[in-house]
Amino acid sequence: MDLELTDKTALVTGGSKGIGAAIVHRLLAEGAHVANVNRSTAEGEALQRKYAVQGKECYFIQGDLGESDACRNAVEKTVERFGRIDIVINNAGVNDGVGLEDGPEQFLESLQRNLVHYYAIVHHALPFLKEARGAIVNIGSKVSVTGQGHTSGYAASKGGINGLTREWAVDLADHGIRVNAVLPAETWTPLYDRIIRATDDPAAEKSAIERLIPLGRRFTTCEEIADMAVFLVSARSLHTTGQVIHVDGGYTHLDRKCTS
Ligand code: NAP
Repeated sequence: MDLELTDKTALVTGGSKGIGAAIVHRLLAEGAHVANVNRSTAEGEALQRKYAVQGKECYFIQGDLGESDACRNAVEKTVERFGRIDIVINNAGVNDGVGLEDGPEQFLESLQRNLVHYYAIVHHALPFLKEARGAIVNIGSKVSVTGQGHTSGYAASKGGINGLTREWAVDLADHGIRVNAVLPAETWTPLYDRIIRATDDPAAEKSAIERLIPLGRRFTTCEEIADMAVFLVSARSLHTTGQVIHVDGGYTHLDRKCTS
């Protein structure tokens, strides 16, 4: 299947680790050029070097997306480097556990970390996306539909991402721009690995979660999220927009009986 991504330019947020890194890898494998905006520097620079050796461009832009100037800067640098933006993949985020007891200031900070930059990146990239008749994928979370407890800021952000996905799909349909969301539930990343290892009984902790995932009793892989995200921005997905797609082995929707 030819995804027709050769020489397209993709701006990916949080592309240095976990799900974002898998998306970057898949886009590059399909012949796209990537700008990776990430807060930490070492991994982003290492990826840029690693892919350069293979003749691929994974242009690293340092920035903390919680700061609004970083979003404008990311778009400007991408356009300076590649002259265009065909694809935006909003991915950076963190389940920061800002709960009801923490108060409005921390809540707003959580929205800044998890939601506002999704809007700001697309806002600044809009003229280029219109020119390219491009595509957007927002990485969300099952928390947007299930709740989790003790994480109001993250849950509100992820709910907002689902809303914005539909809103922008309407806004941008006349420009031929498609907007979809991919929602992970339990996806195995190096960060998840570290969290589980820090528990008293990592093996028991891991298998307790795996038992809740109907398909295969295993975590989703980063590559499985990336495959869906990249398919959605590709030419093999040209009549799909406004969709909120759960890539989660059935975790969010299937009958509880199958995991009880
Ligand atoms: P991860 O392993 O922590 O990777 C996130 C990447 O984004 C890191 O490279 C991180 O940079 C970067 N990042 C985070 N906040 C940033 C900011 N403010 N500015 C710039 N870069 C930032 O996370 P992940 O598990 O792959 O998660 C990716 C997305 O999937 C997130 O939106 C998350 O909410 C969603 N998700 C994941 C799961 C799961 O099970 N893994 C489940 C549901 C939803 P640093 O290098 O500085 O840390």
